[in-house]
Amino acid sequence: MSLSSKAPFDPATVRDDFPILSQSINGHPLAYLDNAASTQKPRVVIETMNRFYAEAYSNIHRGVHALSQQATELYDGSREVIAQFFGTNDSREIVFVRGTTEGINLIAQSFVRPQAGAGSCVLLTEMEHHANIVPWQILREQVGLDLAICPVSDEGDVDLSEWKRLLVEKKPLLASFVHVSNALGTINPAKEMIAAARKAGVPVLLDAAQSTPHFPINVAELDPDFLVMSGHKLFGPTGIGVLYGKYGHLSVMPPYQGGGDMIQKVTFEKTRFKAPPERFEAGTPHIAGAIGLAAAVRYLQSLDREAALDHENRLRAAAEEGLGGISGLRLIGRARHRASVVPFILENAHPHDIGTFLDQKGIAIRSGHHCAQPLMRRLGLPGTARASFTFYNTMEEVERLVDEVTRIERFFR
Ligand code: PMP
Repeated sequence: MSLSSKAPFDPATVRDDFPILSQSINGHPLAYLDNAASTQKPRVVIETMNRFYAEAYSNIHRGVHALSQQATELYDGSREVIAQFFGTNDSREIVFVRGTTEGINLIAQSFVRPQAGAGSCVLLTEMEHHANIVPWQILREQVGLDLAICPVSDEGDVDLSEWKRLLVEKKPLLASFVHVSNALGTINPAKEMIAAARKAGVPVLLDAAQSTPHFPINVAELDPDFLVMSGHKLFGPTGIGVLYGKYGHLSVMPPYQGGGDMIQKVTFEKTRFKAPPERFEAGTPHIAGAIGLAAAVRYLQSLDREAALDHENRLRAAAEEGLGGISGLRLIGRARHRASVVPFILENAHPHDIGTFLDQKGIAIRSGHHCAQPLMRRLGLPGTARASFTFYNTMEEVERLVDEVTRIERFFR
């Protein structure tokens, strides 16, 4: 479907698709500004999953009965929908995982570990989420691998010349970086960073947890070797996510976990594994989750995403302008390109106090270190308060946020 054939984007209409948004919290209409932590679910996702459980539920792949075949078709069909969404026509490149965290752990153990040893290294940036730090530290304990860390400026931009230098000098087994920072909102120049890695012969893992909700991602265009994302941040269910991997890599990688559904033949002497993606999906998967994620993807495809992104960017600009005008308030994360994530600190109020006061007014934001403690340390911050927007948020919610933060600043002054 071409963009022009879609209904014009209207945030008010879109809001009606999300049942939770009409709730009141603490006596005020809910202003849900915590979308970087997780997004709310459109009715179609909730109903699709309910319908699956009520009318079509069974385990997959193992039954000859009608329900099992139907469930298998729905599960496999979801993989096709998601493959097309990410721009690959080979659905074997889509592995269902629990989320970004599991995807990164899988790559650490099944792609990097077999090649790693003392003296080998993985390249990260200073703005990674703990999910893209801790699995590498576990691997470091296991095989003695080094971590090379590309620095980030005070504004929140990756140092591209250092990135290029480290790729060539350290010859890492993998370069793994965040596409959009959950803590700063920085949109990293993924195309340029991946092209530099390709030139240096280094495979790339892209953490797309925060980018997939904001703009379309095409793996054929961006060309990462691997990409990971979480369904719950993309208006889909929790407990389901995607690992995209080039088939050439996946086909030679050993399994991450062993169990049912990922084997061709088992004897006590030896087991033969299935080909990807099943090789990496041991046990009964989150069948309803995969089906719900495909429903979320279809829902997104029904929107004019360009217009939705314009709307989000207008919200971000208004929030930055409004909050930026409050005395004693500092906006954090001033990178050249930013997604609609607005972190800030107040001179006299702790981020948790800001979060608690806003909650009393029905405004949900997040406060703390945002699972990026090394980045917070680098920027000399104990944490931040963070408002994060998506297409169902409104200008009125931004105004409420700015008014309430203004009051909080006066209260703590
Ligand atoms: N990477 C980034 C950039 C994130 O924002 C998050 C979630 N906050 C993760 C990884 C981890 O995602 P999950 O908890 O869904 O596995």
